Amino acid sequence: MKLTIHRSAHEIGGNCIELACGGSRILLDVGRPLEAPREAKGLMPATLDLDAPLDGVLISHPHQDHYGLLEEAPPHWPVFSGEPTQHLIRLTTGIFGKPLERQFQTWKSGVSQRIGAFAVTPFLTDHSAFDAHMLLIEAGGKRVFYSGDFRMHGRKSALVQRLMENPPPGIDVLLMEGTNIGSDKPCVTESDLEDDFVDLLQETKGRVFVAWSAQNIDRTVTLYRACLKTGRTLVIDLYTAEVLERLAAFGRLPRPGWNGLKVVVTRAFARLYRSKGEGAFVDRMAQHGIAARELVAAPGQWAIMVRPSLMRAFAPAGVVPDADDAWCWSMWRGYLKEKDGAALQVWFDGGAACARHIHTSGHAATADLRAFAAALNPRCLVPIHGVAWDSAPDGFPPIRRLSDGEAAEIA
Ligand SMILES: [Zn+2]
Ligand SMILES: [Zn+2]
Repeated sequence: MKLTIHRSAHEIGGNCIELACGGSRILLDVGRPLEAPREAKGLMPATLDLDAPLDGVLISHPHQDHYGLLEEAPPHWPVFSGEPTQHLIRLTTGIFGKPLERQFQTWKSGVSQRIGAFAVTPFLTDHSAFDAHMLLIEAGGKRVFYSGDFRMHGRKSALVQRLMENPPPGIDVLLMEGTNIGSDKPCVTESDLEDDFVDLLQETKGRVFVAWSAQNIDRTVTLYRACLKTGRTLVIDLYTAEVLERLAAFGRLPRPGWNGLKVVVTRAFARLYRSKGEGAFVDRMAQHGIAARELVAAPGQWAIMVRPSLMRAFAPAGVVPDADDAWCWSMWRGYLKEKDGAALQVWFDGGAACARHIHTSGHAATADLRAFAAALNPRCLVPIHGVAWDSAPDGFPPIRRLSDGEAAEIA
């Protein structure tokens, strides 16, 4: 079996990894580099052969840095993923771009299937994306284990623990992410965050605004639970409502219509959905809806999703932060310095609202990476999805460092 990391050997994200065996080849993810400008095209790695046949693009989870170049891949390449991943990718590309015209073949966690010369077994795992998978890939008498992105402090940490207690034997190569190597990002558990949110909701006299990613389902659940415990109502936007509706079949998740959850139907989002032929969805959500102006009265009743587009809808309705309110950035602190984060900061600072940062990383802490690698006990570890692997301390299995585009035989 031959391994080529086309991209992500020395950076976080943009994963594009090829495995080839006996004339068959597959790709593990086809991600967009995180730093690529939104409109940039022609980003496929130059070392990836787009003309030779390919038996499958395997998408580990629905984050752009793992599937974002799917549109640039030849249309006849088959695509494989978990079923919720397919829904989330379609939803995102349908709303924010042009609809994805590809068929997906979906896998089930724990069930092996043959893709070309490869036997592939997906394992559902813990990550800030819903439906993230690790992959065991076997061919030509060799076994590769791909971690995708994962952590051990989210709501699905038991899945990783179980895998570590009963790891697949005889792993030749562990391809493992290392996002948090060399960083001091907080890695507290989601249930600790729930306690922090409960405190914030109880302490705050006015409204609590929270900025978080609609597709970070663990965080939505954390916020919803904190609201239930404190008697507040969680107010989400149409996009977040759609995410929860689409995933309703795949887990017991809060959804529009449930107690303590309201959808704020803003004019801009309603227009966008109607223009995509989704008027019936807007009308259905309006039944569980709340108008922005209703958030002015009884401010202590609300925990409200916020982002710049919502801010623009709230302000004319009189929903403007004041000193009784609090706002919480519940994403990576680095994003706060970018355009959207900075705009929110100015808005809330203008009203003297209390600012908080309550967040935990979507990726494993360094100590957890070490424990995971030790449990998998591979013959060698090939680092990916990290920027500080070369300064990685001891405690990992033997490391084999590859460069982007370098083909390596798995002996
Ligand atoms: Zn990633
Ligand atoms: Zn990810």
